[in-house]
This record gives sequence, C-alpha cells and structure tokens, in this order.
Amino acid sequence: MRLRALLQLRCPHCLRGPIFHGVWRMHPNCPVCGAKYEREEGYFMMAIFFGYILGFVAILPFAIWLYLVGAALPWYFFVSLTVLLILSPLIFRYSRAIWMHLDELLDPRRPPKPG
Ligand SMILES: [Zn+2]
Repeated sequence: MRLRALLQLRCPHCLRGPIFHGVWRMHPNCPVCGAKYEREEGYFMMAIFFGYILGFVAILPFAIWLYLVGAALPWYFFVSLTVLLILSPLIFRYSRAIWMHLDELLDPRRPPKPG
C-alpha cells in the first residue's frame, strides 16, 4: 500500500493526496488530509542523500556499458551528465517522496485529535 503510494508520489500520511503539481512544484500541504509536507526547516536536506543514490543507480548501467565497450574517459562524463539531466525531474521527485515516506514510517504523524 505504502509502496504503491510512494511510486505514485502520494502523501506519506494518508497515501492518497498528490505530493507534486507540475514538474518541480510541491503542494505545501496534502490536498486530501492537510498534512504539512515540509515538517520543519531544512526538512528536505535528507532528500539530497536519496537523490545521490538514485543518480548513482541511474548512471551505473551506462557506466558499465561504457566500460564494456572500452569508451574513453570523457564519454563517462557526457553520458552521465545527459542521463542525469534527462532524469533530474524523476530523481528530484522520488528522492523527496522516498525521504517523506521513510520519515513517516520512522516518525509517524499523530492522527488529528477529535473535537
Ligand atoms: Zn495526505
């Protein structure tokens, strides 16, 4: 359930509301449950860590392929840059979503108090 919400870039709290609108823009709060996405100042700094991992995973098959065909060193740079530029919207969105879902698992928000 959570994995599907993560893949569909849905709210880490209710698993239904969209996190993003547009390519680079996030909703400040979940449109469904109202949960604030940026829980504290600098909250998304940890997402950079996941961005590095996703970028590495994206480049790795191309680097292996370049190694196998015996490409010169500059090709690693140009291919990596091209792959990262093309995938940067996906890496940006999924690095934030992975961090938000992991944080919600480790430190869940409390359900709203009745009344
Ligand atoms: Zn929500």
